[in-house]
Amino acid sequence: MFLEGKRALVTGSTSGIGLAIARALAGEGARVVLNGFGDEDEIAKLCEELGATHSGADLTDVAQVGAMMEQAGEIDILVNNAGMQHVAPVEEFPVDKWNLILALNLSAAFHTTRLAVPSMKKKGWGRIINTASAHSKVASPFKGAYNAAKHGLDGFTKTIALELAEHGVTANCISPGYVWTPLVENQIPDTMKARGMTRDEVINDVLLVKQATKKFVQPEEIGALAVFLCRDEMQNVNGANWSIDGGWTAE
Ligand code: NAD
Repeated sequence: MFLEGKRALVTGSTSGIGLAIARALAGEGARVVLNGFGDEDEIAKLCEELGATHSGADLTDVAQVGAMMEQAGEIDILVNNAGMQHVAPVEEFPVDKWNLILALNLSAAFHTTRLAVPSMKKKGWGRIINTASAHSKVASPFKGAYNAAKHGLDGFTKTIALELAEHGVTANCISPGYVWTPLVENQIPDTMKARGMTRDEVINDVLLVKQATKKFVQPEEIGALAVFLCRDEMQNVNGANWSIDGGWTAE
């Protein structure tokens, strides 16, 4: 349990990838702060299971990010994972969706980072792990806001990796391909509409077409990679963008 004594905040961890990362970190002894929306009873059960606390802060609101960070206390492992998607042609892309996606998938990571970094620097140890996406490296049509935010998150991660390197703090991206979570399931109807496809065609000819494995990535695989990046032996793995996409971006 090499993370005993460390405190981890995982944003967007009431579901999907974030929950798997939170479980994996807690499994190595980290005290975890969960964040995200959902059914109160379900979240209470998760907190009990993981020995975690929970913040329901809406990370598109800067004041709520500040309150969450205050409540969380000194964070050793910061996982910026909360994200959302919207699929639409650029000329029809709703302006409010653009603003929300940029706020959640990109700006929230800046706000948590600027508030977490002072105590990491003071302790001389920290890990910042940002859930980016294959869409931080390559694009797909109809995902303008998401692709822009994820490419931006990669750039931000490299910048803080350089700034914090001498303080024992590393910053890396994890970039999954398609993982079967509510975020993916919810984009199927709009993708069917934007591309004029059936549900099965979207799954096989859009989602899995580039993943050489022809399989969805499992959330637990991403949890395992996040734990690996927290090891002391990984202290020189900094500013990297780790693909976990079944070979998609190798092509
Ligand atoms: P998900 O929808 O299962 O989970 C999203 C989490 O974010 C939930 O806990 C939700 O409550 C929380 N959340 C949503 N809006 C929020 C807000 N305004 N404030 C705070 N929390 C909020 O999604 P997921 O697939 O697990 O995605 C997690 C991350 O992984 C995202 O950044 C996503 O872009 C990225 N990602 C997902 C995939 C995939 O295929 N699922 C692929 C690549 C990258």
